[in-house]
Amino acid sequence: AKERGGAITVEFDDSMRDTFRFRHELEQELREAIRTRQFVLNFQPIVEAADPNVIVGFEALVRWKHPQRGLIHPAEFIPTAESCGLILYLGDWVLEEACSAISRLNARGGRWADRYVAVNVAARQFLSASFSARVGELIMRKGIDPKNLRLEVTEGAAITDARRTREVLEQIRRWGVKTSLDDFGTGYSSLSYLQQLPFDTLKIDKSFVANAGETRSAQIVRTIVELARSLDLSVVAEGIENASQGKRLASLGCDYLQGYHYGHPLTESEAFARL
Ligand code: C2E
Ligand code: CA
Ligand code: CA
Ligand code: CA
Repeated sequence: AKERGGAITVEFDDSMRDTFRFRHELEQELREAIRTRQFVLNFQPIVEAADPNVIVGFEALVRWKHPQRGLIHPAEFIPTAESCGLILYLGDWVLEEACSAISRLNARGGRWADRYVAVNVAARQFLSASFSARVGELIMRKGIDPKNLRLEVTEGAAITDARRTREVLEQIRRWGVKTSLDDFGTGYSSLSYLQQLPFDTLKIDKSFVANAGETRSAQIVRTIVELARSLDLSVVAEGIENASQGKRLASLGCDYLQGYHYGHPLTESEAFARL
């Protein structure tokens, strides 16, 4: 798209035409994949910063088991699912499947009881009219303890409609389910904005973790942790890839850590085995 004197003209070239065709095909395939349930959840451990041997929960991450193309990661289909609205169906499947996993974990008893599964919720899904009712319905139908479920919403999602976000967060809190503000630091949240939204946890985006050796990034992390403390939020640092990053983020005051260093996203049975 080019801007010319206020008007916007769109010029199609071959690569754009291919992109559109590709997107259309992807959309058709996604529709079919949702209908025939070609998705699986992986579970990545989240550990205590003070003792990384202690797993406090898992983040559920969706993967597409494509019959021809093999395992496809969310970056390749979530954006399209979001723009065409299929994310509502996919996200609902993810939520239900995560609740099923929680009830399977609960059936194992023992060390599972206090752990949680954190589910990513897209903006459109979170802000849709039936979302909090659906959460309540699933908790009851699957017979799960709400403390075993968490919901992650990205900063971008929360900012599009603060009033509505607050409303949904309050409804979810009434079910006893905690919420995390995901990818924190990548959007435009201000302190006063965050104060209005009853999240329980901030997840610091991995871009700050990667650079936490640099003074500037370290200072940003310190500021985020202080902000979280003042609002009584816990802090998860994600994208920890080595021991020194883990030590650094722990010393900067993060409560929980997540990243390849502590565990890659695992299948459900591998995740069980870690507990
Ligand atoms: P996210 O919510 O920020 O999830 C964390 C991503 O970072 C995951 O990528 C995870 O595999 C990756 N990761 C974990 N540890 C490390 C590390 O140490 N280093 C690096 N470089 N990366 C690490 P994944 O699974 O590819 O998911 C990408 C994004 O797709 C997620 O980012 C989330 O925004 C979205 N997504 C995943 N599953 C769902 C879902 O069920 N629903 C929705 N709406 N979005 C999802
Ligand atoms: Ca997340
Ligand atoms: Ca994140
Ligand atoms: Ca992200």
